[in-house]
Amino acid sequence: MQAMLEYDIAVIGAGPVGLAFAQALRGSGLHVGLFERAPEAAIANPAFDGREIALTHHSQKLMRDYGAGAALEDGAPLREARVLDGGSPFALRFNAEGDKAGALGLLVPNHRIRQELFNAVRADASAELHTGAEVTALSTDPREGRMTLADGREVRARLIVAADTRFSENRRRMGIGARMLDFGSSMMVARVAHEKPHQAIATEWFGHGQTVAMLPLAGDVSSFVLTLPTPRITQLMEATPEEFAADATRRTQSRWGAMELVATRHAYPLVAAYAHRFVGRRFALLGDAAVGMHPVTAHGFNFGLAGAERLASEIRAARDVADTAALLRFESRHRRGTFPLFTATNTIAKLYTDDRAPARLLRGAAMRLGAVLKPVRQAVAAQLMDVR
Ligand SMILES: Cc1cc2nc3c(=O)[nH]c(=O)nc-3n(C[C@H](O)[C@H](O)[C@H](O)COP(=O)(O)OP(=O)(O)OC[C@H]3O[C@@H](n4cnc5c(N)ncnc54)[C@H](O)[C@@H]3O)c2cc1C
Repeated sequence: MQAMLEYDIAVIGAGPVGLAFAQALRGSGLHVGLFERAPEAAIANPAFDGREIALTHHSQKLMRDYGAGAALEDGAPLREARVLDGGSPFALRFNAEGDKAGALGLLVPNHRIRQELFNAVRADASAELHTGAEVTALSTDPREGRMTLADGREVRARLIVAADTRFSENRRRMGIGARMLDFGSSMMVARVAHEKPHQAIATEWFGHGQTVAMLPLAGDVSSFVLTLPTPRITQLMEATPEEFAADATRRTQSRWGAMELVATRHAYPLVAAYAHRFVGRRFALLGDAAVGMHPVTAHGFNFGLAGAERLASEIRAARDVADTAALLRFESRHRRGTFPLFTATNTIAKLYTDDRAPARLLRGAAMRLGAVLKPVRQAVAAQLMDVR
């Protein structure tokens, strides 16, 4: 018979947030087990996945605090963000006025974030990592939490934390529902080299029936981010690199000159999720499992890091790791920190992909208002930067 694995805290999912949470508990004296269904190689050396994560200033600080600052060295600074609406002459501009470094944020490849957080967990031994270890059953009672792994092993923990994707199976196993919002479209990300310089400016462009973003990377290279109904994205995933580059140049009206595809393309279905509760008996949700953002406002991982920090600080301050009052405080802080932007993001995503006349009028009005109201732009920039 296999021995029972016992921990103070068992974390499901060694994605970036599960790993960051283990680091946030570093030095607490708690015995933490991290359970990941993917094999070790996929976590230790994650493949390039096309995502360029815009890290706020506070997230950059947390990455350094958690021993994963090396990932920031591969980042590209974001000096300004511009929002364009179709052919409208108005552009909303957000910049980092007042920031010494002059940057709104830093664009860091997701696979480097994951790799450095993994290295940090390994170096600090902040958690015992079990890879190829899928959690297939889960329950909690007033005394403890219990999990079963796919290979039949049993795990006991005083607290179970699930950071197991926005489609979290373990959220459902705990009877916690989520508001899911399926946008019926997909987002494709692809690195492209282009003729004209981007000047470290990110451009988000809401055209007719499509949304394009160009995120500036090192050199004359950007991440081309395209949102379209899923069947159109599937076609573009299958196009030859030359066909794809010609299509991207046409969609951006040659603003950056001719483009060339320089890395693999990746597509993600656009589904937002917000859990009805973030905590249960001896249980908490983190990362996308708690708040799965639409990527348009670039805050999913930033919220994941903030959640890991909040939960770890409540646990450190409590007498018991699964103290109900501490878990509820985490829930209330994380809800306050995420719900307004979650709601605003979904509204923006819907408004800017709706080509019916009332939506177009509203967009035009919002653009004109934003272009003349400096306090509005400053408030948005402050939110993007998350300077505390
Ligand atoms: C195109 C795109 C662009 C983005 N850009 C930004 C951005 O600019 N800024 C930003 O802040 N965020 C951004 N995000 C969001 C960010 O990528 C996510 O918020 C982040 O990856 C979530 O991390 P996570 O650890 O919660 O979940 P995940 O990365 O989904 O990891 C979950 C882990 O749990 C494991 N798992 C699942 N079920 C089980 C189980 N039963 N047993 C064991 N293990 C399990 C999985 O294998 C996986 O490794 C973007 C997302 C996309 C798609």
